[in-house]
Amino acid sequence: MLDLKSPNTAASDLGFIPRQLIGGQLVDSPTSFPVIDPSTGEAFARCPDATVAQLEEAIALARAAQPAWATVPVAERIVRVGHFADRLVEHKEAIARLITMEQGKPFAASLGEVQRAADSMREICTIPIDNEVLREDERGRVQLRYRPLGIIAAIAPWNVPIALAAPKIASALYTGNAVIVKPSSMTPLSTLLMAKVTQDILPAGIYSVLAGGGKLGQLMTEHPGIDKVNFTGSIPTGKRVMQAAATTMKRVTLELGGNDAAIILDDADVAEIAPKLFAAAFGLAGQVCMAIKRLYVHESLYEPMIAAMTDLANNAHLGNGFEEGVQYGPVQNKGQFDEVMALIAETRELPGVRITAGGHALDRPGYFIAPTIVADIVEGTRLVDDEPFGPILPILSYKSVDEAVERANNSLFGLGGSVWTSDLNRGAEVAARLEAGFTWVNHHVGTTRDLPFGGLKESGMGRNGGAIGVKSDMEAQVIVVPQA
Ligand code: NAD
Repeated sequence: MLDLKSPNTAASDLGFIPRQLIGGQLVDSPTSFPVIDPSTGEAFARCPDATVAQLEEAIALARAAQPAWATVPVAERIVRVGHFADRLVEHKEAIARLITMEQGKPFAASLGEVQRAADSMREICTIPIDNEVLREDERGRVQLRYRPLGIIAAIAPWNVPIALAAPKIASALYTGNAVIVKPSSMTPLSTLLMAKVTQDILPAGIYSVLAGGGKLGQLMTEHPGIDKVNFTGSIPTGKRVMQAAATTMKRVTLELGGNDAAIILDDADVAEIAPKLFAAAFGLAGQVCMAIKRLYVHESLYEPMIAAMTDLANNAHLGNGFEEGVQYGPVQNKGQFDEVMALIAETRELPGVRITAGGHALDRPGYFIAPTIVADIVEGTRLVDDEPFGPILPILSYKSVDEAVERANNSLFGLGGSVWTSDLNRGAEVAARLEAGFTWVNHHVGTTRDLPFGGLKESGMGRNGGAIGVKSDMEAQVIVVPQA
């Protein structure tokens, strides 16, 4: 029986030594960095730090291997991506264990993440990428052909390491590209284990995984040997990626931060929806790009909603992700913990603001913050206007739907949004007015990768998944042939 709480369990029991995957080989790096368990604040493993020479090697091998991969029939590429997904499922527990150790989320959520990653890879492969005939008449035949870009860098954040990397990998491979994956240095181990268990599925060089920090990411975005950066992370880093990519006219897909509004219409049933809203705001300790980060509640339901959310916050079960019955884990790293605690302190000082639940760290090791509900707060404050990325939710009151929509849209962000109502048609109408790339009625958080996901405004550029996303890993080429 594994002792899941033992710091060295994952490495020793799996015989897992984290290594880079370059050209189909698992290799070490001369230096390493510590990986912290956020539920203890202690380092539990070390991760190799990829060198510039290793990046150069991965790029050179990818460039050598990609032209042949592009000629492999799509049906065969789908089979390989399917094998990749199968391996994720086969090694689900081991990968999930590492996700919980390095990311902090409950083990059940980590298992769900690996399954979602596998499912998303298959969803990507259902998107048609066939050539199209644009015109066929007396002038001749015009074909639109989709061709791979070449080498894609897939750069991932620390909140959902596997389920955000996997669809990027699937999309790149399915469309005939080579892919070089860089996990966040905060959560690199699960991705390196994924690399180990999928090492033999693709031709050498087509798929490499390099662990390292922001410097490595920056080198990837600047390198002329890389054709596209598919990046998920924060807005400031996304802007740096775009700037660096401009020097070589690289294509970019940027999935960035969000400050999603959920609008509760006056006909909603508070008791029924409050648990769903709470889960969509506090799941993964609020560290989800598309989490609910602003709750706009019709004035007639405002106090009942605050009471319901406060009750849920006071009864939330926080703890180490391996503990029985744990619903919410810690904030992932010390920097993020300090930022959220500073935001709470600043919010507490605002005149008239009520903190009805939480507002403090837990008295235990690790980066645990009690789910924090803030009422009677308005726009123009950091909590409402920025993305907090932690377990803190402002609840705002509104009078008319027009007002709620206007306030929700008055934001630099535009990732997701939702409307909650007992009238689905009314909900769909209001949802369509939200300036967001992905909107729901009576739901928030979660998507499948046969649908395009991404943000408006500063929340990103382009989409992952769906035809829009998959085809953005390809270049469109028009071929005009006159009539014989
Ligand atoms: P981050 O921007 O700090 O880091 C993301 C990745 O970029 C990491 O792998 C990091 O090493 C790398 N990186 C750092 N500097 C770089 C540079 N100059 N060039 C290239 N790569 C560089 O983000 P994070 O803190 O890991 O993640 C949290 C943020 O990600 C939040 O803002 C969240 O909303 C966002 N996010 C967005 C989505 C989405 O789908 N829109 C999903 C998850 C997270």
